[in-house]
Formats: sequence, structure tokens, C-alpha cells
Amino acid sequence: MAILVSETKVEAVQADITREQLDAIVNAANCSLLGGGGVDGAIHRAGGPAILEACRLLNGCDTGDAKITTGGRLPAKYVIHTVGPVYRDGKHGEPELLASCYRRSLEVALENGVKTVAFPAISCGVYGYPHKEAASIAVNTVKAFVQENNGLDLVRFVLFNGELFSVFEQVLDVVA
Ligand code: ADP
Repeated sequence: MAILVSETKVEAVQADITREQLDAIVNAANCSLLGGGGVDGAIHRAGGPAILEACRLLNGCDTGDAKITTGGRLPAKYVIHTVGPVYRDGKHGEPELLASCYRRSLEVALENGVKTVAFPAISCGVYGYPHKEAASIAVNTVKAFVQENNGLDLVRFVLFNGELFSVFEQVLDVVA
């Protein structure tokens, strides 16, 4: 499923984000930026120690913000590390913080000449965000950003499991 928003292709695929051959992949990191489980662990394992070395110089990252490092040995040139909110009940700023993750990641991408970028489902693992709501925020935030900003050729949501992939497909279908 792919849609064209202004001049940017926005699509969802079911795959392992560490294998994406795009300019940048986004990492769903934690505030320390010093590694974790889930997609964070997979990215550090696949990219090697250069990513962690670069992260150590960044002094962590606030929830909703994003910072960029080398992609190390990954096919992607850069990793953009963003920190999603831990979901409590949706009334503690979680929707705004999750939207900020997508927006800040795309701002950092453009600042670094990135034209193609892949996102995982931020906060949809151990951080517990309800999948339908998270997908809706992800797709709508990306759509609004690329409507307002030129320079991105491709934004790809890369979902590891089939359930999340179909949720993202459904949301893309609705906004198409
Ligand atoms: P968070 O702490 O933000 O919830 P997680 O890493 O626990 O982050 O999960 C975010 C999402 O990333 C989950 O949907 C998980 O299934 C997915 N994920 C885990 N490994 C990969 C991978 N290699 N590629 C793409 N997505 C992945």
C-alpha cells in the first residue's frame, strides 16, 4: 500500500527495518540513547559499535525529540534516534509526544539531506501504545509534514509483524 502526498511516496511494508537500503532509518530508542531491546537492540546489533559510540556523545534525548548518528554497518547511511512516549492512558500528552517523534525525525532528516527514510512503529512495543491510535498519529503526522515540507522522496513504515502491518495499511487506505 502506497500513497502519494504532494511529491512524497508514503507506504507501509512488512519487513525488518535493519535491512532497509534507504538514506536513514528511525530508531525507537529510550532517553539514554545507550541501547535497549526491541528494534533498538536489533539496530545496534546490525549496525555495530559505531552507532553506540556516536550515541554516547549526544547526552541522551528527550521524549518526542530526535537525534541523528551514523548508520555504521547498516545499509542505511544514518540512524535517526527518537524517543517515543510510554503509554499510560492517553491523557498524559502521549498523542502530542508521539506526533512530535515523527515530526522531529523528519525535520532532522531534511536538515541532513535525507530523501528516503523508514520508520518503525514507535512506542508500539514495550512502550504499550494502542496500535490503531499510534498508526493513525504516525500516518497523519507524516502526511501533514510532507504536505508542508518539500524534499522527501519516500517515507516508509516498516512493520515487523503482520498485525501492525495491516493496521498501518488500513490507516493509509483511509487517508488515501
Ligand atoms: P518502543 O519501546 O518504542 O515500544 P519497541 O522496540 O519495543 O519500541 O517496539 C517498537 C516496534 O518495533 C514494535 O512494533 C516491534 O515489533 C518493532 N520491531 C522490533 N524489531 C524490529 C525490526 N527489526 N524491524 C522493524 N520493527 C521492529
